[in-house]
Amino acid sequence: MGWVELAVVEVRCDVCGQVAVGDEDARWFTDRAVARDILAGLGWMFTADAVRCADCVQAAACALVGHDPGEWVDRAYEWYVGRTRACSACGFVEAEPMLPVGAGGG
Ligand SMILES: [Zn+2]
Ligand SMILES: [Zn+2]
Repeated sequence: MGWVELAVVEVRCDVCGQVAVGDEDARWFTDRAVARDILAGLGWMFTADAVRCADCVQAAACALVGHDPGEWVDRAYEWYVGRTRACSACGFVEAEPMLPVGAGGG
């Protein structure tokens, strides 16, 4: 079969730079239309000039309508006692009292 050079399309989010991953972990698409079809199904959004990943789309949606917080969950660690709840849409974590600076969520 020899060597065959193929042109492919890689898609990156304009905001966070995340590289799109399609079906079966594919990072390249045969053309823009195919990429749009597949990625739109995964929550990405496209205009003529802009590309937004599903995470950035969701973050924008939360900024617009607010987070969708889940149930409060009590937390008791050596470094933190309180309760947290996470947005089911974007994963943003609220905590009462505030988590100490530098602490991870969860
Ligand atoms: Zn993004
Ligand atoms: Zn959210």
